[in-house]
Amino acid sequence: MGLSFKQLICQLARACTGLLIMQDLQADIVVVGAGLAGLAAALSARERGASVMVLECAPSEERGGNTRFSNGAMRAVYDGVGDLEQLVGEIGNEARAHTDFGAYSREQYFDDMARVTQYRADPALTELLVESSKDTMAWLKARGVKFMPLYAWQFRSPDGFIRFAGGSAVETYDGGEGLSAALFTAAERAGIAIHYRARAVSLIERAGRVVGVRARRGRDIVEYVGRSVVLAAGGFEANPAWRARYLGPGFELAKVRGSRFNTGDGLRMAIEAGAMPHGNWSGCHSASWDLNAPDVNELTYGTVFKRDDYFYGVMVNVRGERFVDEGADVRAVTYAKLGRVILAQPGQIAWQVFDGKVAHLLHEEYRNRRSARVRADTLAALVDKMEGIDKPALLRTIAEFNAAVRRDIPFDPSGKKDGRCTVGLTIPKSNWAETIDTPPFEAYGVTCGVTFTFGGIRVAGNCAVIDVDGAPIPGLFAAGEMIGGLFYFNYPGGAGLMAAAVFGRIAGAAAAERSTLS
Ligand SMILES: Cc1cc2nc3c(=O)[nH]c(=O)nc-3n(C[C@H](O)[C@H](O)[C@H](O)COP(=O)(O)OP(=O)(O)OC[C@H]3O[C@@H](n4cnc5c(N)ncnc54)[C@H](O)[C@@H]3O)c2cc1C
Repeated sequence: MGLSFKQLICQLARACTGLLIMQDLQADIVVVGAGLAGLAAALSARERGASVMVLECAPSEERGGNTRFSNGAMRAVYDGVGDLEQLVGEIGNEARAHTDFGAYSREQYFDDMARVTQYRADPALTELLVESSKDTMAWLKARGVKFMPLYAWQFRSPDGFIRFAGGSAVETYDGGEGLSAALFTAAERAGIAIHYRARAVSLIERAGRVVGVRARRGRDIVEYVGRSVVLAAGGFEANPAWRARYLGPGFELAKVRGSRFNTGDGLRMAIEAGAMPHGNWSGCHSASWDLNAPDVNELTYGTVFKRDDYFYGVMVNVRGERFVDEGADVRAVTYAKLGRVILAQPGQIAWQVFDGKVAHLLHEEYRNRRSARVRADTLAALVDKMEGIDKPALLRTIAEFNAAVRRDIPFDPSGKKDGRCTVGLTIPKSNWAETIDTPPFEAYGVTCGVTFTFGGIRVAGNCAVIDVDGAPIPGLFAAGEMIGGLFYFNYPGGAGLMAAAVFGRIAGAAAAERSTLS
């Protein structure tokens, strides 16, 4: 069969330059990455009349980035149950009777961001996140994302009463899977072209403006040309060399909780084009993750390896020693920094130990059959099953812990910090300190699971990428995990997806505006 004229030209160009240049790969906006930030940017640009194409390096079966792996919990301002109903639909009288749905004000959100990031979070970006959160949730809902109350993260009293606390009150229906599926449906309906297996490798600049992206498709290099580019390619959490280089030695050994595709390409490309690195490059979200989890997570497992109920028990390392205040604060503001602490333990592992009084409070994931779980009717028998641990030291640690628990303060897993603490221990447990003395006993082997990285590039309020001299790079915008300056040391749960949505939406709108004006 003969080649068409266009195919001939393409082959000729490839033969001469090594590049495959296909002129039909053009749109006003080129978005890199099809997670929440990228798809929010694409939808937002399309709604402003721009034509949009999205490059995604994953094959379509693995599309969706960390967004698809996520739990779908979202942190947004809401003023009571009425606001939640706007998102989740009517909440019946029965649910209202046994639940306090609480509220989450702008001030609380701003304070939480400031406090957990040790007052480092960029105030302007934080304000944008907080102020746009409620409206952006409504925007997502209008584009087909379904929400429901986030019961799993709340506290439940023994009588079944549920109290919403900690800020993240809703989750997407079917978690990250549901969120991702809804966004792809919306993008396809809006006529946004998504190119899979297209790994962006460098930016195309013409006359001082970023106008497109060079991408690798198999062994070919293809040019996608537009008038502006939005980078939403995630962080570098799936790149072991970069993890060791930036997060610190040992981090190459952490397990990856999400997508295998976020290897820092977007950040590298932006920095090569002059972008200013910004934020906490040695910081990341890293949680307690099951020891049996694969090195890099897979979509079939989702979040079954999550081990976030540490505050009901104690955590010990292989020396049989506690190494962290398990009850320092509510889970939403402690779990994301725990992975790093576990990684620093000998062998990069730890055990979570619970007794029969609290085991029923553990989340369903703990019961997964791949769990690194041991169980016994006596503490001595349990300790015998905990491979590699200093057994006498662990029994001593538990005895000392039990003796230090303030039994005059009631244990209360239903709400705010209960104040039931230990006294006299070098490492205290500040809340939910419950003695470990009632069979059956359970222990779970855990390690560090890295979720996403905090270091990124500097952007202006409209998500334009700022260069090392402080000026916007014409035609270049960024969103999602790629933005630096928002999270430092830690993060409040639910703020990652919210930031991806808020800044994706802003970036898409700004890119479309700049494209159509120029
Ligand atoms: C297990 C887990 C649970 C989580 N749970 C929550 C939660 O409940 N609530 C919350 O707020 N946050 C949660 N997060 C964090 C949240 O998922 C992220 O903050 C958010 O999804 C980031 O969105 P993004 O669009 O920036 O990145 P992503 O969703 O990761 O999207 C980036 C995309 O870019 C693509 N890409 C990368 N490089 C290239 C390239 N060179 N060319 C083309 N495409 C490229 C990737 O394939 C990917 O599709 C969780 C994360 C994980 C891993």
